[in-house]
Amino acid sequence: MNINDGADAPYWNGLAEGRLLLPRCGGCGEWLWPALSRCGTCGSEEIQWVERAMAGAIFSWTRTWHRFGFTESLDLPFVSIVATVDDCGIRLLGRLDDPDQIDPLIGEAITGRVGATRVEGRDIPTIIWSRG
Ligand SMILES: [Zn+2]
Repeated sequence: MNINDGADAPYWNGLAEGRLLLPRCGGCGEWLWPALSRCGTCGSEEIQWVERAMAGAIFSWTRTWHRFGFTESLDLPFVSIVATVDDCGIRLLGRLDDPDQIDPLIGEAITGRVGATRVEGRDIPTIIWSRG
């Protein structure tokens, strides 16, 4: 798996540096996710990568109790979430710190930091979200 190819390479390279970079159209200002090389709204190919705070709200979540592919390194259970990033509306998949196994609330405020998920011997940058 090569995570540094393609239209979303700046996202992955940003995470590797501890920064959240998200794509915005330089033509019309639309946030674009998944990352594209051309804006679907206005057709511009001017994509700007804008740093955003790792802050957002829980859009959805699930707690996983059984292993499946690529989760070998995670302690069970773990909580996957889709987070809506503040001030841009982009939704990102990530993991939620879940020390007490208290069910998250939809819309709950969260903040993120960059961690890693070990997949097939490689550390893939991952946003680890925490409540509050
Ligand atoms: Zn556009």
